[in-house]
Amino acid sequence: MAPEAVTAMLQCLTGDGAFANPASLQHHFGERAHALIEDARADMAKSLGCKSSELIFTSGATESNNLAIKGIALRYQHKGRHIITSATEHKSILDCCKYLEGIGFQITYLRPDQQGQLSLDCILAALTEQTILVSLMQVNNETGVIQDIDRIAHALKDKDLFFHVDAAQSAGKLNINLANTPIDLLSLSGHKFYGPKGIGGLFVRNRKQTQLTPLLHGGGQEYGLRPGTLPTHQIIGMATAFRIADESMQEDYQHCQRLADILTAQLKQLDGVHFNGAPAHKLANIINVSFDQVGADALMIALRDEIAMASGSACNSGAIEASHVLRAMGIEGDRLYGAVRISFGRYNTEAEIKQAGQRMVEEVARLRQLTLE
Ligand SMILES: *Cc1c(COP(=O)(O)O)cnc(C)c1O
Repeated sequence: MAPEAVTAMLQCLTGDGAFANPASLQHHFGERAHALIEDARADMAKSLGCKSSELIFTSGATESNNLAIKGIALRYQHKGRHIITSATEHKSILDCCKYLEGIGFQITYLRPDQQGQLSLDCILAALTEQTILVSLMQVNNETGVIQDIDRIAHALKDKDLFFHVDAAQSAGKLNINLANTPIDLLSLSGHKFYGPKGIGGLFVRNRKQTQLTPLLHGGGQEYGLRPGTLPTHQIIGMATAFRIADESMQEDYQHCQRLADILTAQLKQLDGVHFNGAPAHKLANIINVSFDQVGADALMIALRDEIAMASGSACNSGAIEASHVLRAMGIEGDRLYGAVRISFGRYNTEAEIKQAGQRMVEEVARLRQLTLE
């Protein structure tokens, strides 16, 4: 986490801080917590280009995605029961869609090209009279590939449907201006931009026009869309991290680009290295790479105490299953089963990346030698 976010959180936990229930407006202590939360909401809304009243807090992007997808589906099913998404989405989207299929919705899972990119034509071709929702991620969490959300949003603007964007990987890393981009719903996750885990947000453009059936029922917090006591410390931590990410976006970007260049150059010393995902259309902080003749599991086990690598997405690790993202891109064989994902960020150093690259090169060479023997 950003150290500034940790400090801000600590000030919401103890008796001399904003510890009270932010819904308890009958006393000063609750009012103080309430004011902090509303300032945090206003700050985040301002940098996203939306109104404070359009940003609600959730437990993370998984919940935001659930609320957006199921919330729209259940509320608008009388208008149609068709949803369009892509086969490379996060499981929190795909599993919602699978659930909805089970209760009679029809889902189109678009496939990207080999580089991980969706064409606008294939999105438009999938639309039917029954389509009520299109849900696409801005940046893929396994490959870093960026979709042209702005262009897609404008192409869908005049259609009678909702457009949801999972921005968990892009918020704080790419500029998002909701004032100029006709997106109806957008999901955020605090821990993806150096905030705490267990907090996120959902942008809902104009609640009168974008109505959601809530997942939870309870107190009236967050307009009844997400009842439950607001976690002051989590919200303040996320908003502080978001402000810093916004301020240092350019610098973070350049830093990650530099680290990516170093790592890429090192790995290219090896033969049979394949970088997955369109190099010209991706964020630098995620590198997805396959090595001929080396399985992802063998490489990850060999380096498990030194490098935090993943195959597939972190949420799936444990289950030995090839990446659904790479599979949907049409990647097969060694290149699919050998793919590992490395991500890094603001607080990684060049020395760390060089060491990681060096160790990967050594281990890949060693593992290849073993298969020869
Ligand atoms: C991490 C992630 C999520 C889930 O976010 P949580 O806050 O961890 O629930 C959803 N979508 C994408 C693209 C992600 O990277």
